[in-house]
Amino acid sequence: MSDIVKILPIEVSNKIAAGEVVQRPSSVLKELLENSIDANSTKIKVIIKNAGKNLIQVIDDGDGMSIKDMHSSFIKHATSKINSIDDVFSISSMGFRGEALAAISSVSMVEMSSSKVLENDGYFIEINGGKIIKEKESNFDKGTSIKVKNIFFNVPARRNFLKSDFVELRHIMNVFHNIAVSHNEIEFSFINNDEEIFYLKKESLKKRIISIFGEKIREHLIPIKENTQIANLNGYVLKPEYAKKSRSNQFIFVNNRSIKSQFINHSISSSFDGLLREGYFPGYFLFINMNPLKIDVNVHPNKTEIKFDDDQSLYSIINSSVKHCLGIYQISPVLDFEKDQSMDISYTQINENPKIPTIEVDSEFNPFKIFNEESFIKKDSDIALSNNPSDIIQDNNKSSKIFQIFNKYIVSTSTSSLIIINQNLAHQRILYEGFLKSIFESSSESQKLVFPIEIMLTKPQLILFKKIITEFDSMGFVYKLSDSLLTIISVPVQLENNSIEELIDDILDDENDFDKSKNLSYSDFFAKKLSKCSAIKTGKNLNSDEQEFLVNQLFSCKEPNLSPDNKQIFITLNKNDIENRF
Ligand code: ADP
Ligand code: MG
Repeated sequence: MSDIVKILPIEVSNKIAAGEVVQRPSSVLKELLENSIDANSTKIKVIIKNAGKNLIQVIDDGDGMSIKDMHSSFIKHATSKINSIDDVFSISSMGFRGEALAAISSVSMVEMSSSKVLENDGYFIEINGGKIIKEKESNFDKGTSIKVKNIFFNVPARRNFLKSDFVELRHIMNVFHNIAVSHNEIEFSFINNDEEIFYLKKESLKKRIISIFGEKIREHLIPIKENTQIANLNGYVLKPEYAKKSRSNQFIFVNNRSIKSQFINHSISSSFDGLLREGYFPGYFLFINMNPLKIDVNVHPNKTEIKFDDDQSLYSIINSSVKHCLGIYQISPVLDFEKDQSMDISYTQINENPKIPTIEVDSEFNPFKIFNEESFIKKDSDIALSNNPSDIIQDNNKSSKIFQIFNKYIVSTSTSSLIIINQNLAHQRILYEGFLKSIFESSSESQKLVFPIEIMLTKPQLILFKKIITEFDSMGFVYKLSDSLLTIISVPVQLENNSIEELIDDILDDENDFDKSKNLSYSDFFAKKLSKCSAIKTGKNLNSDEQEFLVNQLFSCKEPNLSPDNKQIFITLNKNDIENRF
């Protein structure tokens, strides 16, 4: 038999390896920015087109490269930053693996201009899929410009795998936020589709955070500072009121490198115990400085994971420091031994008015009449699962009972079965179909707010808002937008009783739900989000009219079985199911 094991050609192995470093446009931006920082730049300009799918360009005023270095920078494992393996463990630069430019240039079209001196003494190189196709002298001033065009043009499977512009831009923004927050000594500008989104001059960390996230974050920043033998902590945690439903405000930096760490997230979150509503995540900008010999950055090519020598001690240091700074600002509950423990109210109930316990007696209730008698004498063949809406509605009008259990489910009967409906999911479905209808027919009804609501949008929120503006209009929102101040004047009637500010924040903050590759349109995203936010919640007591209304509306829906997120809305128990239980 002939031999079959062969060594892959370099272009193929490079493309495969590139997948680890370059997952999406935002990973390219991260690597280019890190290179500019390592080159001692003081000004960096970022230019993005079509969420980075067509262009990611980074221009810096850093050290620049010689012609020879420009050539070698695209070769795998070519780096100016380390000489031996020992250097990896005391690394202070952002890069060291020498694989980013090689990876990027093997899966895109790259144009690089660079110069080490001020006087128009630059050089230009163009590379397509890893091969130099053009080079010449250029009049580029000191620094480097790298244009990365048409990412994954030669790996169609990967290009198709890219998410919608909405999602990719979110990732790009996230990378930019991380780098800009941790390098407040550098001036940045960020241009997206020819519009300047950020111009950040050199400024203090606090000012940098405010410039990026908007004025409204200022009053929520609580400084954290702790020096210990193991690590020095610095930065800000955000007051519990500023907690979000996503983790988008969680920033951790170790020796100024942005990292992801579940155990650090956990350590901080547990300091917030009892201060946050369920489903909300605290926000923080935590800078940990420690001896580089005590950490290992070389865990994964994207360098966002770190191994710590002593993670248990670090866990407790962070946990107690965050508690301490929340305590100083008198946010965490103060221990009071005099206080009667039984008077403690959980955070979720703190803002609710006490309810007077009620006893409801239904004088009509006859436990033997839940099923109408007919159903007991029906033939087995009739006792099939009944999902037929008309069957249920008709039956409601006759003698079936509808009642609520556990403040969560509505129980109803059809001629042949018992139906248990999840009230929250049912209402989501009803609202979802209603919202979609209003969007497509532009037929929504608006309710004017007594007091218009003003919301300061952050820059990224503004970009996203502009994308969904048509849907927003057709849903029945009436608003004014001047610069980044959004004033909501009227809202769709279905949303009347909701916290609109929270809702908008939620819509413009969600990075996961909207995904074109799953055939979702903005309308669908919007309708889903709104119906989720405004549906009747689990735990809400409903009166009998509301229960009946919900059941009837559900079964008039086009698709009463599944919630907008494809969860089962109700279950049916027929006679057999019940008998089998005995
Ligand atoms: P690494 O950053 O791990 O060294 P890269 O592939 O990202 O590897 O870059 C390769 C080399 O190219 C760097 O070591 C550096 O010498 C040079 N280089 C890349 N970008 C720049 C830049 N913007 N300014 C100056 N030199 C750069
Ligand atoms: Mg690099």
